[in-house]
This record gives sequence, C-alpha cells and structure tokens, in this order.
Amino acid sequence: MRLTLATEPAYPDRPNEDFIGATPDAIVLLDGAGTPADLESGCSHGVAWYSHTLGSTLLAGVTQSADSLTTILAAGIKATASIHDFCCDLSHPGSPSATVVMLRRSTDTLDWLVLADSVLVLDVLDANPMVICDEREALTGNRYRGPMNAATGGSPEHLLALSHYMEAMRAHRNVDGGFWVAAVDPLAAEQALTGTVPVDRVRAVAVLSDGASRLVDRFGLATWRQLLDLLDHDGPAELIRQVREAERSDLNGSRWTRGKIFDDATAAYGRIT
Ligand SMILES: [Zn+2]
Repeated sequence: MRLTLATEPAYPDRPNEDFIGATPDAIVLLDGAGTPADLESGCSHGVAWYSHTLGSTLLAGVTQSADSLTTILAAGIKATASIHDFCCDLSHPGSPSATVVMLRRSTDTLDWLVLADSVLVLDVLDANPMVICDEREALTGNRYRGPMNAATGGSPEHLLALSHYMEAMRAHRNVDGGFWVAAVDPLAAEQALTGTVPVDRVRAVAVLSDGASRLVDRFGLATWRQLLDLLDHDGPAELIRQVREAERSDLNGSRWTRGKIFDDATAAYGRIT
C-alpha cells in the first residue's frame, strides 16, 4: 500500500482529538468525541488522551493478531478502560469516546470496520466509490439539532445550544436504538459495520474523520469521486486545506449549519494497485 496522510487540529492551540496510525498493511483512524468545558466528563485524562491511547492499542492489535477487527476493537476498548478505571469515573455518561475506522490488508482481502461517523471510501475498480459511514449518530442527532442550527455559529447562544445538544445525546450513547461509539463497553465493537472485499477489486482507500469528509458530505463542494481524485493527485494535506478554506468562508455557519465551525481534520489515502 502506498500511503499518504495528514491531520490537523481545528485550532493550532488546541489538542488534536483525532488519531491516525498506519503500518504497511493497516490503517487505524479515530475521532475523539469531546465534552464541552462546562460539562463534567468523569475522566481527568481528556479526549485526546483517550483517542490516542485506544488508537495506538488498536494499531498494535492489528499488527499482533489475526483475530477479527471486531475482536481486536473489543479487546482494545477493554484494555484502554483498564488503564484508567481505577482513577476515573468511567460510569460517567460523559466519559471520553471515539469513532473508529480500521482497515487491514491481507494477501487476498481487505477487511474493514467502521464505528460511528468517520468515513471509509473504497475506490472499487469499474464501479462507483463505495462509501461506508455509520449514520446512527446523525439520525439520533436530528432530533436535537434545531436550536444549534438556528443560532449564529460561534456565538454564545450557539455554544450553549451545542452544550445542550451534547448533553441530550449522552442519553442515546451506546444503548439500543441510539448510536454506538468506542468508550468503556467492549460490546460496542459488535455494533460496528464490518466487511471484506477482494484486494484485487480495490484501486485505493480513503479514511476520513468527519472534519475532512465534510468537504463532500456537509459542504457539497466535491463528490466522493472528486475527493478520491484530489487525494490521488494532490494528497491529504490539500484536502484539509480546501476544507479550511471553506470553513473560513462561512465563519458563522450560515451557509453550512454545523456544530463545529472548525473541526479536527484527518485524511489517509492508500493506493492498493
Ligand atoms: Zn481517564
């Protein structure tokens, strides 16, 4: 796999809560879910610590084990919880969480796993791009987005509405009928979308946090086909540059309503054939 990647925090002075890591045969991407500063989280380590710790554990897992990606994710969630369950309150509904995308290439196949709203795009030979994203968080969130969308982006009203939104969403996290993320419960791994494709059917793969996929799925400034071509020709850093340019052109979120005016953005692109 010929691999390129880029990652950038939403703001230069804040931690990047995305994680990206790769070996010659695997890619792991996580997007940590934040707790606004005015809400308690139960964890003294923070979201970036969580996503980076779980992410590096999962990368070690896919390197060391031939188990299914679901099994490796469940073990990673459990191992990460055990690092801080004696000092943090992991029963707290605001404890850190993360989306997960895992991709592993073996001789003949490409195994993938997607949990929550990061995006995997497979550039399949002689077909349209195959886009895999877990929509459950977005569908649950539609019920609560109204006040946030009505407020001017970045205003105190918007920040308050975002805080209320995140608090409302906590009740739906990792419960049946809600949405599933990596947090404390290893059973969340069983809720991930998974699949296997023959490796000779895939030209390339793109793995994106929602801060990078927003160029297509929120801003509508490119198609998935165009995004794959952009990554192939100009690389992941150029994708993130174009996302930032769009974000800066709409600082109050009037053109594209969104919870985060700027978001941590991460993209990895792997050429298979
Ligand atoms: Zn902690």
